[in-house]
Amino acid sequence: VKKPGKALSKGHKNYDLMLNLQLGIRYTVGKHASILRELRPGDFDPKEKYWTRFPPEGSKSTPPHQSVDFRWKDYCPMVFRHLRELFAIDTADYMVAICGNDTLREMSSPGKSGSLFYLTQDDRFIIKTVKKSEVKVLIRMLPSYYQHVLQYKNSLVTKFFGVHCVKPVGGQKTRFIVMGNLFHSEYRIHKRFDLKGSSHGRITDKPEKEIDEITTLKDLDLNFVFRLEQSWFQELIWQINRDCQFLEAEGIMDYSLLIGLHFRDDYAVDDAPLDLCAAKTSLHHDEIIMQDMKWIPIGRGPLIRLGANMPARAERVSKVGLDLQTGSGCSNSTPSESSGEIFDVILYFGIIDILQYYDISKKLEHAYKSFHVDPTSISSVDPKLYSKRFRDFIHRIFVEDK
Ligand code: ATP
Ligand code: CA
Ligand code: CA
Repeated sequence: VKKPGKALSKGHKNYDLMLNLQLGIRYTVGKHASILRELRPGDFDPKEKYWTRFPPEGSKSTPPHQSVDFRWKDYCPMVFRHLRELFAIDTADYMVAICGNDTLREMSSPGKSGSLFYLTQDDRFIIKTVKKSEVKVLIRMLPSYYQHVLQYKNSLVTKFFGVHCVKPVGGQKTRFIVMGNLFHSEYRIHKRFDLKGSSHGRITDKPEKEIDEITTLKDLDLNFVFRLEQSWFQELIWQINRDCQFLEAEGIMDYSLLIGLHFRDDYAVDDAPLDLCAAKTSLHHDEIIMQDMKWIPIGRGPLIRLGANMPARAERVSKVGLDLQTGSGCSNSTPSESSGEIFDVILYFGIIDILQYYDISKKLEHAYKSFHVDPTSISSVDPKLYSKRFRDFIHRIFVEDK
């Protein structure tokens, strides 16, 4: 199995950063491991006092280390301690995954933002470097985020486990968040999609023959729909509505529904019958913009079917929520009228990249791009519109299996 990313070993330009991060997290998690008291409003306040100095020779509270002299900041450690508890993350597992001897893997910058992504060796956690503004957004929304995930156990929004900052003496600050890897699974992910519901630029820029399992495909690369058993469909739509309501109220836009697919049949990626590049070859750029997703073959019947005869559904839903792990029961089902093939798949998904506030720069981006293309097709739109378009899109790619 091809694992995404490259191990960060000695000599890598971000090796020290990784060491600092590991030292910092070990310190933070260790420090708060024994105390689990009720949260107080003050815990949501990102205090300055959470800076800790890590001199190489060690100090009263920090161990000696081989890396550069640095300072470390924890944001709202008590809140994240509670969040990890809520998300059933075992403290020892968490520490071993991030700070164990195995090095982290750096994913080849999957996004356009310039953020770095690190994956723990066990694949469970992703560490992403973020901008100052993103930390601000997260800290500002933390009380309502906490309420939201507490209230909705099946929420699809990113699970955050920690926010930190590293500052080498005389160097730049690097801020990062630790979150759950949506694709941590015993099943191999064959295809992955990052979907926003907008069309402008939403197509992979990779040449067709370079597209593989770890390529993140986008809206315009998707040419099939997901058929969900009725109750699952309803639960999904209900939960997405709750999550979008939350994001909208927080003034957030630019998030995506990230979907990973595991094909249950003996499915070879190379001879995949899905012609994922059809849209790219048959439509010109302008047409894509004009049509704004209308090419999705809604009337043609689904190619992918989910959730039929799923055993122990209730248990799974409540346990892993809508990371819908489903499938089975499709092998003897007849493909619907005009559809090609129906695949039996296991689906993993969640809403990611939820720290972009619709601020002045996003407003300008919208205004600027609006001169050139249909304003409704671009990613930067106000949070209300964004959420509506996102939900409409989800309604089109998921269909109810009646
Ligand atoms: P941009 O702002 O340009 O969209 P970004 O740098 O903010 O990009 P994200 O959108 O957060 O990056 O993530 C980029 C890609 O990284 C996603 O499309 C996905 O492939 C992968 N990724 C991000 N978060 C997760 C996650 N929690 N689990 C699994 N994969 C993820
Ligand atoms: Ca993104
Ligand atoms: Ca982003």
